[in-house]
Amino acid sequence: MDISQTIFEEYTDDLGPEKIIHIYEPVSKLRAIVVIDNIAAGPAIGGVRMAPDLTTTEIRRLARAMTLKNAAAGLPHGGGKAGIIADPKTEGKERLIRTFARAIECLHDYTPGPDMGTDECCMAYIFDEIKRAVGLPRVLGGIPLDEIGSTGFGVAECAEIAKDYINLDLNGARLVIEGFGNVGKNAARFLGEKGARLVAASDTSGTVYNKDGIDVPTLVQVKEEKGSVIYYEDAERLTTEDLLKISSDIFVPAARPDVIDERNVGTLDTKLIIQGANIPITIGAEKALHKRGVLSVPDFIANAGGVITVAVEYRHGSEKEAFSEIKSKIRANTKKVLDKTYSEGLYPRVAADAIAKERVRSAMRYRSRCM
Ligand code: NAD
Repeated sequence: MDISQTIFEEYTDDLGPEKIIHIYEPVSKLRAIVVIDNIAAGPAIGGVRMAPDLTTTEIRRLARAMTLKNAAAGLPHGGGKAGIIADPKTEGKERLIRTFARAIECLHDYTPGPDMGTDECCMAYIFDEIKRAVGLPRVLGGIPLDEIGSTGFGVAECAEIAKDYINLDLNGARLVIEGFGNVGKNAARFLGEKGARLVAASDTSGTVYNKDGIDVPTLVQVKEEKGSVIYYEDAERLTTEDLLKISSDIFVPAARPDVIDERNVGTLDTKLIIQGANIPITIGAEKALHKRGVLSVPDFIANAGGVITVAVEYRHGSEKEAFSEIKSKIRANTKKVLDKTYSEGLYPRVAADAIAKERVRSAMRYRSRCM
């Protein structure tokens, strides 16, 4: 079958994507993918991910997650995502980022933001090239979402609402974080402020576990200074995969897509999952969790803190406004999704999808049919 036919048959539905672009620049050897999924509600905003093993499928799925996330949060933005296929620790990173920026200059419907492997400094390079990026450093008018912990803050607000649906007390709740990066460490910090006790955290090098609790500021410092959580002293050291076997009340996946799937979901022993990462759990695994009575709040509801912040930045709002909007929007959306879940006997992703897609379709009614 012709490749373009495969793309249309396998990749598209009634929402999008509008564009799938593959970029190759032979001098710098830049290889990148951009997917603009849907722009009915406004110009697409979505992160630029940098990793050596990215695929078109991953970027397309992440772009759709952005469409739904932006719609669910009621933002005047559509969804898009980009991926630069390279090691984020590569020596020529600035050059690759600047080349990428020039390559997407004509894609006016897509505004890039930071994601795994890129940061506010990368966004500053893009802004310097094409004057279009969000998640910028403070000095350029940005609200540094990873520094202030926007997404982790939203994860904690989501947990505060979700806990009431399963009668869970946050005070003393055992917390496990998969992927102790920007999202994971800030989720640990803000959930800690609400009384939760971090008992385990992982990264690609391994897991640390202490049933009596791990000191979050010390773990953050260890990760920053030594590069991995495994150098935290007052804890048992386990493999990355062992994390799933640790019993918890709240589990926050904050690493990569599909880290929990049908093969390993059986080992996960928790009551409440707040999805900090994008698409961290396969649909099959989510269904298995639901059958077991584990409440799992979908990614695009729980982790919208970052994109709410960049939308506030886009309209030149303040950090204070960002925190206030994250709190109100994520609390309201979590409640709306879980009310629908329990009143209609759905599982949370189906309820969340229905709410977000209805918003996208409403916006699509105003689009011209002759483009
Ligand atoms: P990050 O790079 O700062 O942190 C990711 C962490 O996960 C790293 O410590 C890495 O070692 C670890 N990791 C990777 N694979 C792992 C695995 N298989 N098991 C355990 N740990 C693993 O990235 P981040 O900004 O925290 O983003 C994490 C996830 O959250 C991504 O899916 C990202 O798209 C999503 N997300 C981020 C934001 C944000 O504001 N940064 C917003 C929404 C969604």
